[in-house]
Amino acid sequence: MKGAFLGLGAIGEPMAARLSSRVDLAVWNRTRMRADTFARTNKARVAATPREAATGTQVVVTCLPTSAEVERLLDGPDGLEAGLGPGTLLLDCTSGDPATSRRIAGRLAGKQVGFADCPVSGGTAGAQSGTLTIMVGAEPAVFARAQPVLEAFGRRIEHMGPVGAGHAMKAVNNALLAAHLQAFGEGFAALAKAGVPARKALEVLNASSGRSFVSESLVPDRVLTGRWPQTFRLALLEKDVRIALGLLDETGVGGPLLHLVGQLFRQARAILGEAADHVEIIRLIEQEAGVEIRG
Ligand code: NDP
Repeated sequence: MKGAFLGLGAIGEPMAARLSSRVDLAVWNRTRMRADTFARTNKARVAATPREAATGTQVVVTCLPTSAEVERLLDGPDGLEAGLGPGTLLLDCTSGDPATSRRIAGRLAGKQVGFADCPVSGGTAGAQSGTLTIMVGAEPAVFARAQPVLEAFGRRIEHMGPVGAGHAMKAVNNALLAAHLQAFGEGFAALAKAGVPARKALEVLNASSGRSFVSESLVPDRVLTGRWPQTFRLALLEKDVRIALGLLDETGVGGPLLHLVGQLFRQARAILGEAADHVEIIRLIEQEAGVEIRG
């Protein structure tokens, strides 16, 4: 099978690396140097344009910051759409927004190109080990064709509904992640100020009902150690919360708590900048409280 992967960012790169061992892969990245580096260490050739990457393939995978970039990538004589032939599949692993994906799917349907939104969860480590959870929005026939391709980097691959359903699921998941990060930071800053040792407090929390992925995985690895690795930009998480808020508003649910989380992440993005990692929201809470949560 011939395929292409576009967008070799923090998570796209390890996903593409796994795909390159299963399909004859072309890669394209906006900053070409990243694609050149990738092709030196993986079985893949570098395409000069999105069109060239897609030409002659059966499947194309994209992983860009937002759906807006994916939609723009389709345009123009060297754009992705110009290279997609009838019968091919476009699998968009961006954590994007449902409305843009429905528009893209409609646009490509006229060319007999199948589209699925396939956002992933599990972080860069999950991408490296091929254990991502993948939430797919697609017509059933497209899902059936996408599944064996997604197995290159995913372990749990679920069909959530029509195009857009994968993005909706992912946005809600990440809004909950953001809420857990904020809530953990607030609670543990207070415990630290009250003189409760952070490591002991974390052990007790993780044996109790308030635990979460944040407390079980992110905090021991990054906060207690003060390591703060850069794996998933806070700016991208803020974007995900915004997508979830759109869904809450559209469905009339409202959602005062998640709206507040959205506001806090917007502020954090403005203060910490575009490169900061998502867990650094806890560092910001620490600074505001004048305390550190360390093991
Ligand atoms: P990065 O910021 O690390 O990488 C973004 C990628 O998109 C780069 O390849 C970048 O190219 C490319 N890009 C940016 N703007 C454009 C543009 N206008 N046109 C073409 N290409 C562009 O992001 P991640 O890899 O972390 O995230 C990608 C997606 O995956 C996001 O939607 C994110 O929310 C999601 N995600 C990320 C996770 C993570 O742990 N990192 C976990 C789960 C989902 P260039 O090299 O030129 O900058």
